[in-house]
Amino acid sequence: MKEIIKKYWGFDGFLPLQKEAMDCVLSGRDSIVVLPTGGGKSLCFQAPAMAMEGVAIVVSPLISLMKDQVDALSECGVSGVRIDSSLTGKEKSEVFSRIRGGEVKIIYLSPERIMMGEFIEFLKDTPLSFIAIDEAHCISHWGHDFRPEYRQLGRLKQSFPGIALHSYTATATDPVRKDIARQLGLTDPEVLVGSFDRPNLIYRARRRTSRINQVCGVLEKHQGESGIIYCIRRRDVDDLSAALRQRGYKASPYHAGMTAGDRKENQDDFISEKIDIIVATVAFGMGIDKSNVRYVIHTAMPKSLEHYQQESGRAGRDGLEAECILFYSGGDFAIWKSLMRDLDPDPARIGIEKLGRIYEYCTGITCRHKELLAYFGQSLEAENCGACDVCLDELTLMDDPLVIAQKILSCLIRLRQRFGGDYTAKVLTGSRDKRVLENSHQELSTYGLLSEFSLQAVRGWIEQLISQGYIRKGEEYGVLTVPESGWRVMRGDETPRLLRPPEKKKARAAVSRAIKDSWEGVDRDLFEALRELRREIASKKHLPAYIVFGDASLRDMARKRPSTGTGFLLVTGVGDKKCRQYAEEFLELIKDYSVSHGLELDLNLK
Ligand code: ADP
Ligand code: ZN
Repeated sequence: MKEIIKKYWGFDGFLPLQKEAMDCVLSGRDSIVVLPTGGGKSLCFQAPAMAMEGVAIVVSPLISLMKDQVDALSECGVSGVRIDSSLTGKEKSEVFSRIRGGEVKIIYLSPERIMMGEFIEFLKDTPLSFIAIDEAHCISHWGHDFRPEYRQLGRLKQSFPGIALHSYTATATDPVRKDIARQLGLTDPEVLVGSFDRPNLIYRARRRTSRINQVCGVLEKHQGESGIIYCIRRRDVDDLSAALRQRGYKASPYHAGMTAGDRKENQDDFISEKIDIIVATVAFGMGIDKSNVRYVIHTAMPKSLEHYQQESGRAGRDGLEAECILFYSGGDFAIWKSLMRDLDPDPARIGIEKLGRIYEYCTGITCRHKELLAYFGQSLEAENCGACDVCLDELTLMDDPLVIAQKILSCLIRLRQRFGGDYTAKVLTGSRDKRVLENSHQELSTYGLLSEFSLQAVRGWIEQLISQGYIRKGEEYGVLTVPESGWRVMRGDETPRLLRPPEKKKARAAVSRAIKDSWEGVDRDLFEALRELRREIASKKHLPAYIVFGDASLRDMARKRPSTGTGFLLVTGVGDKKCRQYAEEFLELIKDYSVSHGLELDLNLK
């Protein structure tokens, strides 16, 4: 396997569990492989397919995904084909004769097609190595993306007796895993579950103050890089993408209210890197394999942590650092709640529970990686992840949280636990708000107790106390009450954590190793020049840029600066075919650039 992944894909080693997953395929044992997005699932079946007799079948749910994978394989010199409804009759018969001629190693198919009678007959005359099922959670009702056509795959075992089935998914939950095994009728499958942590993603959550300013603040750090910005509503998508264009950003909108043609055009522009930014509703993302998305911004809170993990997870699939930042406000909670109004009681209850969990995540001040992992039932070993706003110490804490919390809690009690967060904050900061005066609350002993702080700061602390369980917020009207844990704070037995309101900036803390290393020794301007060359080649060949080379390969070129074909082969992601195809153009650029900038060539070549 090691030789194969070097020769075709230009990789030097395995990602976690890849080797184990490949062993299952090679030995013919059914398997369920659960790895996060970017975990390298495709290689688990593609590499063994090259080593085994016969042809491998891969079932995949979307034409766009299949096309991407087959293009990528062909760039690596692996002979793969896809058979789907977009092929013309002529193309189809060509593909069939290539399969009969024995030159094909991997066939991508939709679930509908593999179960068609005549197709099964055709495949029965073709020696098969194994069947791989990508996005296998689509077979389960429990998953987030059930597809009825996947249910038919339950008959694969009867139709292809003796052929091993291997299933791959990024969905972590145990019921889904069990369901996959049951639905597919797997025989004593090996189950491999990787860690769901994505150490290269930097997670941040901030209260939303000004959508456009906060978004632009993030974009400034990512000039010219690809990113996705999610909004809840179509209107917000249109407004924001127009505002960004006006400021000179290459951004386009994407939502279900646009025509299919417009949507496709914007998506293609994003993939071919004609534009940098896609502003979208959740309608965008499924089937997008773009590996070098460098940031995902949520301009509002998604409706669950599952959604957040999925949407933010579209960043950094290539394993290089990427930023995931979420701008939330209490109002988002209300929007989602009103959208759930028409649901039946059970789904509505679950929906609101999930909203509560993600709101806690937003306002919480424990490590974001830990929080996300805990939600999916895993834990993080490292004390400090080095890749979230909490661990990077970007959130500075108040020195006297106990006193502040006690002032807030006693105000709630003076208010007889009958008011919400906004109102309470007004009383504490000594507001002359009409309602406050009408209620004569300026007479309370707690009135103006925190008047040296802004309304927003106090409002924020109230949320933080809610998320830490020291204040309870009523479901219906958001009335705040003090539970037993709040009384422990009142007595001084427990001390909550409260954030310093964002004013003074502190020096940046240590960034995680995984993130620092990926830029180590890389000449950034050379990297930019290489990106430009990649863009030209991709557009000439009508291929997504990241299929020509991933960002990891370009960085490695800008680091090693090889001057010969042999040196070029040592760059990560450069296999035999890519070396033959591209060495000349890239080597020339590297050499010209290095000579004119006085940079040394052939560094760190092993
Ligand atoms: P998944 O399908 O699990 O989301 P992919 O198969 O798309 O993940 O792989 C994610 C990224 O990791 C891709 O950019 C791929 O080129 C890279 N990759 C996969 N296996 C390896 C490896 N063994 N060494 C280096 N990079 C790898
Ligand atoms: Zn952390």
